[in-house]
Amino acid sequence: MTPIQPKLILHGGASSLADKGGLESVRHSLHDIVQEVYQLLENGGTAVDAVVLGCQRLEDEPRFNAGTGSVLQSDGQVRMSASLMDGITQTFSGVINVSRVKNPIELAKFLQTQSDRILSDLGSSELARELQMPIYDPLTEFRALEWIEEWKDNFQSKMGRLIAQPSPEARRGTIGVVALDSQGNIAAGTSTGGKGLERIGRVSDSAMPAGNYANPHAGVSCTGIGEDIVNECLAARIVIRVTDGLSLPDAMEKSMKESQTNQRDFGAIALDHTGVLSWGKTCEIILAAYHNGATIGDTLEWDPHELMGYCR
Ligand code: ASP
Repeated sequence: MTPIQPKLILHGGASSLADKGGLESVRHSLHDIVQEVYQLLENGGTAVDAVVLGCQRLEDEPRFNAGTGSVLQSDGQVRMSASLMDGITQTFSGVINVSRVKNPIELAKFLQTQSDRILSDLGSSELARELQMPIYDPLTEFRALEWIEEWKDNFQSKMGRLIAQPSPEARRGTIGVVALDSQGNIAAGTSTGGKGLERIGRVSDSAMPAGNYANPHAGVSCTGIGEDIVNECLAARIVIRVTDGLSLPDAMEKSMKESQTNQRDFGAIALDHTGVLSWGKTCEIILAAYHNGATIGDTLEWDPHELMGYCR
């Protein structure tokens, strides 16, 4: 079989973001990570390995709301969720509300081969101990101070900030990676600290097929209000539309139009087995970057009124 041109798309959240200075530093981080992960794909790495590496790098970057730098929940604790889907085996695995680990995506990766593949809080922490993962506190000073401000304000905000920098416009966030490898296999991964300030026990879309899904035809990772993503079953909806014969840009556009009518607030990144990359949003901005085999591009200054875009 002739090797396929690998493709990669990743995101650092969806939201509104007025601060241009902030955009430049976000662009820098996203492009660096795209570059590193694409190299792995070019060297013959699998889509699953690329997704895991990309998620690890994004989780380790404190500016994004996943892993280190996750937002705090209403009780001032960090609880993270992550999932991984291998498109070729169509296997979904994930952890929900795990604490005190550095890279929740590593637990999702381990669970790919297990008979119990989605673990919630206690079970995922037990697994981390069983795997002898070092205890790690993902709390950053910025997030602690942000929570204290909210506490002083009697929790008037509904959620935490997208990007860890002082901009009142910067809300929400999550990270995600979708890759197509040189064998034509697709994988998708998503990792989050949640919405921030949520009720204890709230379950994010990021470790559900609504927020992260892949099969041999396409893969999708979502970000935005998890409840809205679940209501549209967004990731699985786009993937199934492609599976049933719609082109990826048409599937993205149709899903975003419906979501806009339903007043949803989110974004998604996607790719298909033919190598088309796509992104869509009903919110103002999606912080996505991609490598199409020729160049690195991003969606950071993309028209806030456009519902979707794509490239090959
Ligand atoms: N989807 C995530 C959640 O609701 C948050 C986000 O993507 O901004 O937990």
